Amino acid sequence: MKREPELLSVVAPMYEEQDTVDPFTDRVAAALGDLNYELILVNDGSKDGTRDAMAAAAARDPRVKVVSLARNFGHQPALTAGLEHARGDAIVMLDGDLQDPPEVIPQMLDQWRAGIDVVYAVREQRLGETAFKRVTARGFYRTFRRLTGLDLAVESGDFRLMDRRALDALLSMPERNRFLRGMTVWIGFSQIAVPFVRQERHAGVTKYPLRKMLRFSFDAITSFSSTPLQWATFLGFFFSLVAFLAIPLTVVARYANIFERGVPTTIIIVLLLGGIQLITLGIIGEYIGRIYDEVKHRPLYVVGERINVEEPSR
Ligand code: UDP
Ligand code: MG
Repeated sequence: MKREPELLSVVAPMYEEQDTVDPFTDRVAAALGDLNYELILVNDGSKDGTRDAMAAAAARDPRVKVVSLARNFGHQPALTAGLEHARGDAIVMLDGDLQDPPEVIPQMLDQWRAGIDVVYAVREQRLGETAFKRVTARGFYRTFRRLTGLDLAVESGDFRLMDRRALDALLSMPERNRFLRGMTVWIGFSQIAVPFVRQERHAGVTKYPLRKMLRFSFDAITSFSSTPLQWATFLGFFFSLVAFLAIPLTVVARYANIFERGVPTTIIIVLLLGGIQLITLGIIGEYIGRIYDEVKHRPLYVVGERINVEEPSR
């Protein structure tokens, strides 16, 4: 089976990437040649010149479409906004900072032509990223796979190509805490990896400081697994068992008259148990906070302005 896309959608979120808008659109145009495509740039509430650079690119080239969000909603909501505006029968999502090279798209498209529904790009090598980022990222992917049992490839990011039916399945998932790369695996269909070398940022700095990365990994794990909640139960059983075994010990200590020597031990045990209780309460709190986010049913993002593109009819 060989298929040819009538329209390829390329979706990229950008937050304060004013110097990257032009090189990005140029490189996408060069990489895709005479293929019929649309490039959906999502401006995630940037305060610099990103919006104006996008508007200028859209004025030059009608294939460039701009969705400008009313404020900074974050990477995953911005990406979702772009995906909801995409009209293609094959859809690519990639970072707008040129770390994901658009030149890889034709290889991904070849896999789609051969009938694969989800083609994900795997980072063979990361250029210009700190050792700290690489190590924490690896650790995160390992933990994520172990806790959730989801077959998300280590070193895969959001850079993927999806068939229309895969995208529709993805967009039918209404959750507010979105870990899109996990969701694209969850939907199933045929999946294949394409290796690439993650480039250095074209300009600017990462918009994912440690604080946001931690948040992001919590969102990822809690939206695919409730294992952390079970830890509380296991810990409870474990310490009950310890307490139970300690009963004969205290009886012996009482008769051997060595009772008062236990004061530091008591303090340590109280502190330890208090700590564990607070941690498990915190874990429960993380889940409750997310449940609260879901039940509020707020829209994921608010659009401030659209250029060259209609409001999606869904
Ligand atoms: N981004 C966004 N909104 C945000 C943060 C990031 O749209 O609140 C965009 C950003 O412009 C970039 C992509 O998401 O195109 C990935 O972000 P970044 O490069 O900062 O993350 P990193 O590659 O360092 O993990
Ligand atoms: Mg980046």
